[in-house]
Amino acid sequence: MPNPLRIASKTSIGAVCAALVLLCADTALLQTAMAEEAPPEKRPQAWYPRTETIGPDEMFVVALGTGMPTPITRAQKSTAWYVELGNGDIFLFDVGSGSAENLFALRPDFHRVDKIFASHLHTDHVGDAPVVWVGGWLSGRYRPLHIYGPSGAEPALGTAAYVEGLKKTYAWDIAGRSGILPDAGGQLIAHEFDYKQDGGVVYEANGVKITSFPAVHVIDGPVSYRLEWNGLSFVFGGDSAPNKWFIEHAKGADFVIHEMFYTPKGLETALGFPPRQATIVSSYIHTPPSGFGKIMAEVKPRLAVGYHTIRQPELDQMMLEEVRKVYDGPLVIADDLMAWNITKDAIAQREVVSAERVQAPPTTQGYKTAPRSGQASYSEYIDAGKWPGYTPPPLPEP
Ligand SMILES: [Zn+2]
Ligand SMILES: [Zn+2]
Repeated sequence: MPNPLRIASKTSIGAVCAALVLLCADTALLQTAMAEEAPPEKRPQAWYPRTETIGPDEMFVVALGTGMPTPITRAQKSTAWYVELGNGDIFLFDVGSGSAENLFALRPDFHRVDKIFASHLHTDHVGDAPVVWVGGWLSGRYRPLHIYGPSGAEPALGTAAYVEGLKKTYAWDIAGRSGILPDAGGQLIAHEFDYKQDGGVVYEANGVKITSFPAVHVIDGPVSYRLEWNGLSFVFGGDSAPNKWFIEHAKGADFVIHEMFYTPKGLETALGFPPRQATIVSSYIHTPPSGFGKIMAEVKPRLAVGYHTIRQPELDQMMLEEVRKVYDGPLVIADDLMAWNITKDAIAQREVVSAERVQAPPTTQGYKTAPRSGQASYSEYIDAGKWPGYTPPPLPEP
């Protein structure tokens, strides 16, 4: 790597800053220096991890996953949305397969990444929950991870059963980290609520209120969410055919996300589905672009956000033509790592620029000193297999 000071002598201060961002992105000094609170519309289009703070009245949203369960691509992971508020809270809405990669790309303070709201239990919406559970624990979370999600038509199909299943599946993983990592960070806590509630409050703390309402998707259970904070509203539609609850509860919100699935023809082309299968999937258990447009024409958000396809120019064209027949308001088809700074005055769209090989962000004093009890151990049989030719360094005091 070139010496940044040498660059400085030949080029501009901007180049120095760029070099320093790369070299010293974790220093508090740099974060303070870069945290000038310009209004969202004046921020640079690129958003670099750990170089900005969010304004006290601002909402910051990142699309972590906007794609499909099949295929998951390098460019687009399955559904996940990151929401950070000016009060310091962080929420994840869905954590679909592959999306943790983009979460880590943001290098967030993992002690604050402790709440997941699941729209439904398809793998393309919750597949990376165990990755966030264990990966976040290793990367700075020293408190439990909370998963909020709906019940199902029977207890075995609800979020609580899903979480219990994860604990059973990863019993060996969790047991092996005990005593080495903070105790509480290994806990996974389910908050299951009735999927039928029509706008009921499922979370309320620190000035944030989140309500849930049903969706129409495959079988009973899926829901969508509305988050309200500081006069700003964010609506996240999980998978659904067009439904009456979404129209009612999303109405007039600032930032409204709803799936915008393939047209039947697009699905035939992209995935090779036969016509009947393509129509059922596109238009009976999902929402094709024409349905998305009609929904947004009713809801009239400040920004309508569609997702849940693999972006390709010809498919984008097909989708936009359908949507624009019925909706002419503000619109974006989301792609992974698009980001938005949202205030009452502006919604600024930006792009996350992140390293391919990210390191975990710095942990806090709270993480370093959090209680660690017990100690994973071997049987005498395995312990006796340690090679006497190797002596590990002495253990530091706890
Ligand atoms: Zn689904
Ligand atoms: Zn889906």
